[in-house]
Amino acid sequence: MVVGGGVLGTMHALEGVSRGCTVVHLEREVGPRGASVRNFGLIWVSGRASGPELALALRAREKWAEIGVRHPDIGFRANGSLTLVRTPAELAVLEQVVARDDAEARGIALLTADAARRVNPALAGEYLAALHCSTDAVVEPREVLAPLRATCLASGRYRWLPGREMVGFSDHEVTDATGERHRGDRVVLCTGAAHGGILAEALSGAPVRRVRLEMLETEPFEGRLTTSLADGDSLRYYPAFDVPARRALGPQSSVAALWAAQLLAVQRHDGGLTIGDTHSTEEPFAFDVDEAPYRHLLDVAATLFGRSIPPIVRRWAGVYSQVTEAAGDAIYLRHWVAAGVEVVTGAGGRGMTLSPAIAEETFQ
Ligand SMILES: Cc1cc2nc3c(=O)[nH]c(=O)nc-3n(C[C@H](O)[C@H](O)[C@H](O)COP(=O)(O)OP(=O)(O)OC[C@H]3O[C@@H](n4cnc5c(N)ncnc54)[C@H](O)[C@@H]3O)c2cc1C
Repeated sequence: MVVGGGVLGTMHALEGVSRGCTVVHLEREVGPRGASVRNFGLIWVSGRASGPELALALRAREKWAEIGVRHPDIGFRANGSLTLVRTPAELAVLEQVVARDDAEARGIALLTADAARRVNPALAGEYLAALHCSTDAVVEPREVLAPLRATCLASGRYRWLPGREMVGFSDHEVTDATGERHRGDRVVLCTGAAHGGILAEALSGAPVRRVRLEMLETEPFEGRLTTSLADGDSLRYYPAFDVPARRALGPQSSVAALWAAQLLAVQRHDGGLTIGDTHSTEEPFAFDVDEAPYRHLLDVAATLFGRSIPPIVRRWAGVYSQVTEAAGDAIYLRHWVAAGVEVVTGAGGRGMTLSPAIAEETFQ
């Protein structure tokens, strides 16, 4: 029994069906509308912390590649990434990162600006050097979930119930808004950032918080972006870059600091660019999107591309669930709320990446 039709719930359904289980899958919306369809689709190994988090990301990367072969519609591409730096202080961070023992496992190498331009000729602008990560990959987030559900359905052991909100749970059981009760040997609640409502009491005090991000997509870009892209601001956020030289990074620009912004960019199948992002943890979240971080991100992108960015065609915000420092070393939240019933959430900005490996851990 799985609740939540995002990537985490769907990976649990797929893993369950592939292991011979019968799976009932509830989703409160008519179709998934959460973080899983609002993200970049980055399968991002380069940013992960050394140790267990990197190991989980590499296992997930392996699983995504297998899933990508079986489901060409999800648009899995082993395109790698470039993290472009513009200051000597940022370059010093990359030098320390590539000197670490796990550089080979991550598939990372430091490139000069000229070498980076040879890897990704679309990046014709100004920067000093780049970190190339060959293990980073990408999928089309809006196209991932339906093909995976189709595989589950083909097993004959899967029931997909969209438009059914879980309104109650007890040992080994969930009740949906129609009053139907669903029993399972194991019940996994992959309810994402829905920390309130029916789960408010069970999650009160749990080490998770919600984070809101702002994103945009452009008209098709004429060139081909052969890799995904990050800027030097990302060195401040990802744990992989927590090396001594990080403490010597100067301040971010005031807009980037205010919005906790970093540039990430991915080219979609249709040529458009998905660009983001910002981070906000202060609730209640804004219901509208603010223009200032968008202008900042487009300026940074134009500097790195050496040309103007195509017009924006859509903007949106998304919210994910993230474990807090109080969770200690936990990479995500696994929280039992009744006998046989657990909430699995909190993977934060790495949830798309880690989802197949998290689902595997549930069954192990
Ligand atoms: C803007 C943005 C960009 C991101 N970029 C990346 C990225 O590039 N790479 C990466 O690895 N991660 C990224 N992330 C993080 C990643 O998207 C999330 O960690 C991941 O999608 C979480 O998946 P989920 O299935 O737990 O949550 P969700 O996708 O939010 O799914 C939860 C589902 O549960 C349903 N639900 C909730 N309550 C109930 C209920 N009571 N009954 C029935 N159904 C219910 C919801 O309707 C929803 O469909 C990004 C996140 C955001 C917001």
